[in-house]
Amino acid sequence: MFLTVHGAIGIIIGQRVSNPVLAFIFGFISHYLFDIIPHGDTNAPKKWNNLIHLALIALIDISVMILLILGMGLKVNLHQWSVIFGFLGAVLPDFLQGFYFLSGKKWFKRHQKVHNFFHFLIAEKYEWNFYTGLVLQLIFFILLITYII
Ligand SMILES: [Zn+2]
Repeated sequence: MFLTVHGAIGIIIGQRVSNPVLAFIFGFISHYLFDIIPHGDTNAPKKWNNLIHLALIALIDISVMILLILGMGLKVNLHQWSVIFGFLGAVLPDFLQGFYFLSGKKWFKRHQKVHNFFHFLIAEKYEWNFYTGLVLQLIFFILLITYII
């Protein structure tokens, strides 16, 4: 799923779990659980499967996420440690994935296997087409945001 969606989930966890360490752990686990939900990205157009397109998508995703954080800063207490740690835990797996793509290091490869396991658990058999997945993630995101605010 998009980082923005994972980030919103991490913030919700941080709002409800006041211990920052627990918020981080729950945020981290939430990433894999929500990645199980098929979200169409395995059906992304093949021509996008290159470093430039992936970097561009990551850049847009991270920009939207930053806008989300800045926008929510007006309504949510983002200075609460548990919110920050819940958020960081929830987005970390995709950064580990990014490090794997860039470095190919063994430790990141191990994590990538775990990440892929959850990601393809259902999507291997039942996957949306790319655009349906995009719309579903958007709807899901709007629901999360209304829940936060
Ligand atoms: Zn992921």
